[in-house]
Amino acid sequence: MKKIGITTTVPVEILLAAGYQPVDLNNVLVSSPDPTRFITIAERDGFPLNCCAWIKGIYGVCLDAGIDDVLCVTSGDCSNTIMLMEVLKLKGKNAMPFAYPERPDKEQMDYTLEKLAATLGTTLKAAEKIRQELQPVRALALKLDELTWKENKVSGWEDHLWLISTSDFNGDYHQYQKELQVLVEKCPQRQPYPNKEIRVGYIGVPSVYAKELYPYIEKHGARVVYNEVQRQFAMPEPGNSLIEQYTNYTYPYSINERLADIKTELKKRRIDGVIHYVQAFCHRGIGDIVMRSAIDLPVLTLEGNAEFYLNGHVKTRIEAFLDMIERKISFKGVK
Ligand code: SF4
Repeated sequence: MKKIGITTTVPVEILLAAGYQPVDLNNVLVSSPDPTRFITIAERDGFPLNCCAWIKGIYGVCLDAGIDDVLCVTSGDCSNTIMLMEVLKLKGKNAMPFAYPERPDKEQMDYTLEKLAATLGTTLKAAEKIRQELQPVRALALKLDELTWKENKVSGWEDHLWLISTSDFNGDYHQYQKELQVLVEKCPQRQPYPNKEIRVGYIGVPSVYAKELYPYIEKHGARVVYNEVQRQFAMPEPGNSLIEQYTNYTYPYSINERLADIKTELKKRRIDGVIHYVQAFCHRGIGDIVMRSAIDLPVLTLEGNAEFYLNGHVKTRIEAFLDMIERKISFKGVK
């Protein structure tokens, strides 16, 4: 199968139906032992210092991994991708735009998906077949999520990792399903996390220092039991067609669509406090104002740039936040 790079979650069913192997460039970046190398490639080619590390990183990955076809999401994710696409074209890549509709509207989604299928040389009918094949795989990822918040048997990092990987199923959805099945089957034998732990919700784009963030939170008596965007990648509201699935997917649309989902999940998962991660130089950081005013829980806004580890400053803020929540809980006498 020919590889096709993707800059965020896209209707992967269409790519698979067209005979491509999707590669989420973000996942390649963060799982590399040396992600800063990719940022250096971008900066050497002229990307400004004040450009988001994800954009620079995925550019570097694209060039380094020799990926020729790239589907660039120009609307519903990141406006920087428009310029990224232009530079990739300059470098000889076949960079194609994909724009989510402005609103979660079924008619517009139908048009958008048909157009993507035609561009890649397939049909929506063929992609629907892939959707049905992927249904049990997506359901398994959501089962793991349930084991995280309901049964308390799964770590925040595991939840993050398996959910985020549904953007490209690590390049092989059969293998992904096999490996995840093994993990889910092992969960009943695990000791649950203690009832007393602080339950944290994580909202916003995935962080550059996720690998260290989740274990650090757990080291301090808390656990992330809700990963907002990562869970959305797994398509928790699949509906009965691709059109419905990608209309119900909240991430590409307005903050209000996201907030409706966030508020429901915060309540359902009995969240004590929320970490809102924002990426330096990202327009989504401005949304923090809306998030903070709409969420009726303690919110810690963490920013990350191009450091793929937790620095002392971030660690101290996390500790202080968790300490404040703990005091609040003991004052109320709950738990
Ligand atoms: S973090 Fe923000 S600026 Fe960076 S790629 Fe994502 S949406 Fe774009």
